Amino acid sequence: MELIIDSLSKTYSNGVQALRDVSLTIPQGMFGLLGPNGAGKSTLMRTVATLQDADSGSITMDGIDVLQDRQAVRECLGYLPQDFGLYPRINAETMLNHIAQMKGIGNKKERKEVVSSLLHRVNLYKDRKKALGTYSGGMRQRFGIAQALVGNPSLIIVDEPTAGLDPSERNRFYNLLSEIGENTIVILSTHIVEDVNTLCSNMAIICMGEVLMQGTPKDGLARVDGKIYQKAIDKSELDQYREDFHVISTKLIEGKLSLRIESDTAPGNGFEPTPAELEDVYFSFISKKVDPITI
Ligand code: ADP
Repeated sequence: MELIIDSLSKTYSNGVQALRDVSLTIPQGMFGLLGPNGAGKSTLMRTVATLQDADSGSITMDGIDVLQDRQAVRECLGYLPQDFGLYPRINAETMLNHIAQMKGIGNKKERKEVVSSLLHRVNLYKDRKKALGTYSGGMRQRFGIAQALVGNPSLIIVDEPTAGLDPSERNRFYNLLSEIGENTIVILSTHIVEDVNTLCSNMAIICMGEVLMQGTPKDGLARVDGKIYQKAIDKSELDQYREDFHVISTKLIEGKLSLRIESDTAPGNGFEPTPAELEDVYFSFISKKVDPITI
């Protein structure tokens, strides 16, 4: 099973070109779509989820023409959108039951089994009678996954799912997602590099509507390996360093600024070589399009 996106472009009526000739091949497993805010991730996800049109290009999945045969895609699609609204007064069990009914599970007994098994799977069984409005951010996202899983979809899209989760909720959510990725295509759209690092066997980096890199995280690391150097500097020196070097990221550590730069040759000046991380890959690529320090 494979999702093939070919030369997809989209310009909104206000003139913003959200997708520019996007081509991606997405195999089974977890696929990370990484890019800063405004990169075009949601536009791409909504188009794959058949919720909006592209201007040109095609999307196919196992012989299904996604842009034409919307119904066929919807039957095998699970979607957790970024702005996932909940009915606050309804409890999780009742809501999932409704969704299962809408997705065509007509038999009451079968529906009950499906709902109960999903609630167990996302670890919300004991909270199934609580109103959704009382759920924490992490519980809400786990419920979002449960509703996306109704009907055993073969394509699952999760858009920015870990934003706003605390570290333990995020871990629980990671565990859940990694279990799902085995027999399906899961596209995880995110601006959080750690999400992709932890979960994804394949990835792409997109920025300003363009695909800048696609492959495995290892492929990405190979592109910058041996070129990353770091040094702690004083905050006041940053502007000068940005003029003299290709600064890809900065982090404040104990009041000092830890600078990471990319350079083909040893830069001297007190910089130490350091093993490349996925975050360096991300910043290296997007710095070719936008200033990574200001995003
Ligand atoms: P991301 O999900 O990566 O943050 P989006 O796909 O939401 O990116 O947005 C890509 C670009 O398209 C942004 O510049 C955004 O402002 C613009 N955009 C998104 N949706 C619309 C819309 N409905 N109308 C006009 N512009 C939009």
